[in-house]
Amino acid sequence: MKIHEYQGKELFRKFGVVTPRGFACFSADEAVEAATKLGGSVWVVKAQIHAGGRGKGGGVKIAKSLPEVRQHAGKILGMQLVTHQTGPGGQKVRRLLVEEGADIKKELYVGMVVDRVTQRVCLMASSEGGMDIEEVAAHSPEKIHKVFVDPTTGLTDADAEDVSRKIGVPAPALKESSELLQALYRCFDETDASLAEINPLILTDKDQVIALDSKLNVDDNALFRHPEIVAMRDLDEEDPLEIEASKHDLSYISLDGNIGCMVNGAGLAMATMDTIKLFGGEPANFLDVGGGATAEKVTAAFKIMLSNPQVKCILVNIFGGIMKCDTIAAGVVTAAREVKLSVPLVVRMKGTNEDLGRKILAESGLPIITAGNMGEAGQKAVAAVQAR
Ligand code: ADP
Ligand code: MG
Repeated sequence: MKIHEYQGKELFRKFGVVTPRGFACFSADEAVEAATKLGGSVWVVKAQIHAGGRGKGGGVKIAKSLPEVRQHAGKILGMQLVTHQTGPGGQKVRRLLVEEGADIKKELYVGMVVDRVTQRVCLMASSEGGMDIEEVAAHSPEKIHKVFVDPTTGLTDADAEDVSRKIGVPAPALKESSELLQALYRCFDETDASLAEINPLILTDKDQVIALDSKLNVDDNALFRHPEIVAMRDLDEEDPLEIEASKHDLSYISLDGNIGCMVNGAGLAMATMDTIKLFGGEPANFLDVGGGATAEKVTAAFKIMLSNPQVKCILVNIFGGIMKCDTIAAGVVTAAREVKLSVPLVVRMKGTNEDLGRKILAESGLPIITAGNMGEAGQKAVAAVQAR
């Protein structure tokens, strides 16, 4: 699950990661009020969307007076902010963060992810922070320093200090920097994060170390342990079809293609998408209906796929192991009738009760295209789309 920058900073502060003071705002009036409360003479008005690259897209503006705060807030709120992470359609800005302007001497980069190979949290840090970190990773990877953290010790003083030195933190700021990195590790660990990023982490003229941006993604599988983070969920930032799917306990991810796929099992779903691509087609979604799909669940899945106007064909690929093929066939027939299916439907079923399943499909009178194996199913689905 993703959260906004201001929410990430709230969590950061709980663990001792130093950030600028700031307030979330939903209107230009609130933005001016926030700036007044903060005091000082420089403020930053920041669009809050679940995507990075806001600075380059015009979503981060510095204001040197209250009228300027109002002007920027008015402009950013409601704008369709396009960044390299939003796609060409952009994302509508509904919230702002107004925070105190920091005096930046140097921008550094710090990130943490779970490294699957070592099964440890990997701390990545670079002296080359700011808005072009992707360039640094691509062209000068030697400028990114890594520490694989031993979970029994956490991020040690020695490692935190060593990496701080490597990214150019001057001696007087080393203690503060090390403490911030250790706080970030505790935050990552205790919130069950899958990604934490501070870009930029800044050094000031007074040798302070401050997290100027925050990105914190939390592992969905651990959300049950963090009701306070679940409460931060912002449905406006999520794909409506994915929200609907999550209500039915379906693993669904929207993609750009036009062949809707309904599959049981994540591995089979991935292989199905590969098969579609092998024959020159493009999947419209990833969808794993799970092992215990009922007719209701199958119907919900069909409705979700068909509410995507891009979908020109549906491919159902089921392996009947725990789930019986006749149950799925009955579900498919009910769903196809209920949603008045208007696109070709290709079905491939294998496993328990497949004969019975095929019979149900054949006797339904629906124009279902059956396939004997996955390759055939992929080919038929792609052909059905091309014929339209
Ligand atoms: P994004 O990564 O989405 O572009 P950031 O929060 O990193 O957004 O902001 C972009 C840039 O704006 C930063 O690299 C920094 O130079 C500047 N900036 C952000 N917040 C502040 C702040 N509080 N004070 C001064 N400059 C800031
Ligand atoms: Mg940033």
